[in-house]
Amino acid sequence: MSRYWSAVTHGLTPYVPGEQPGIDNLVKLNTNENPYGPSPRALAAIRAAIGDGLRLYPDPDAGALKAALAARHGTTPAHIFVGNGSDEVLAHAFLGLLKHDLPLWMPNITYSFYPVYCNLYGIAFRRIPLADGFVLRAGDYLPRNGERAGAIVIPNPNAPTGRLLPRADIERIAAANPDAVVLIDEAYIDFANDDASAVALIDRHPNLLVVQTFSKSRALAGLRIGFALGHPDLIAGLERIKNSFNSYPLDRLALAGAIAAVEDEDWFRESRRKVITTRAALTAHLQALGFIVPPSAANFVFACHPRCDGGEIAAALRERAIVVRHFKAPEIEQYLRITIGTDAQSAALVAALREILQTARTGTGTERE
Ligand code: PMP
Repeated sequence: MSRYWSAVTHGLTPYVPGEQPGIDNLVKLNTNENPYGPSPRALAAIRAAIGDGLRLYPDPDAGALKAALAARHGTTPAHIFVGNGSDEVLAHAFLGLLKHDLPLWMPNITYSFYPVYCNLYGIAFRRIPLADGFVLRAGDYLPRNGERAGAIVIPNPNAPTGRLLPRADIERIAAANPDAVVLIDEAYIDFANDDASAVALIDRHPNLLVVQTFSKSRALAGLRIGFALGHPDLIAGLERIKNSFNSYPLDRLALAGAIAAVEDEDWFRESRRKVITTRAALTAHLQALGFIVPPSAANFVFACHPRCDGGEIAAALRERAIVVRHFKAPEIEQYLRITIGTDAQSAALVAALREILQTARTGTGTERE
């Protein structure tokens, strides 16, 4: 608190990112980073870009990156916006496209940054409850009883649940809300099946904006690159916000690394395949330990144990130098969000959980009843 703060600053409740603890030999499964690292070609391109020097500003329009992304996604650079992480792309979209008189609709359990942007920009919003098993019902996002959304934001797969909404449902929501922007946050879509992405729909639905990131499937969380795909009019709106905020959100190293990463399709496919394989194995192991694990299409699973308290399991894992994410929100406080790491990290996690559950059974306090 300071008397020098503006009223806006006083009114903020900032987002709290997952921690980056400085513990040695940590099994870090709390922020959905990719254990396999970025394409070696991306790292080489970054080194080369350093060699070229950083004296000059980067390209403010990121033309070469947009061209590479357009080629990868079968569209044109006019359909693409890039930003400093998808968080920045989302922030610009909230202000530039989702802020209207009617409330923004979002699921009640979802990426917890969305309400923070709403608070920052003064956007009214409504949380639409998920059905049992964290299922999102498309029918809940259609205008009804004279009520309609000012805009809609849905992460797909949803975070932190990992559940995937079929593309046909997204199309239904976009078609039923032609006057509202429907933003699909696809931070984790590359870990779903190949035809899950809504990018294929942007030519048919001028109100559909799809946001993706290099942080997860391309293992470049540290470089901060996100992008949006949509009708050129939506993109032009985002550019207006960006050019009223920061002309150079992507630096020369980020641009060089991102272009090389997009072009290394083989690395991308292999890294994604490994994560998906480990996800299936980990899900089976967790279920064998008695965990409830809704099907995940992301690089994490969301798991809860019917007999043991989520917060206490997270604390017990931490004592064993394994960190997972635990949210204190009432509907999900029994759940742990566990990033898919390497097979060795999975094995360490499963061994630790087995031990923790064993201790709980012999009665040292983790038991829920
Ligand atoms: N969307 C969702 C649903 C996320 O979980 C995250 C990661 N916290 C992001 C967007 C932001 O990712 P980044 O800014 O690293 O692109």
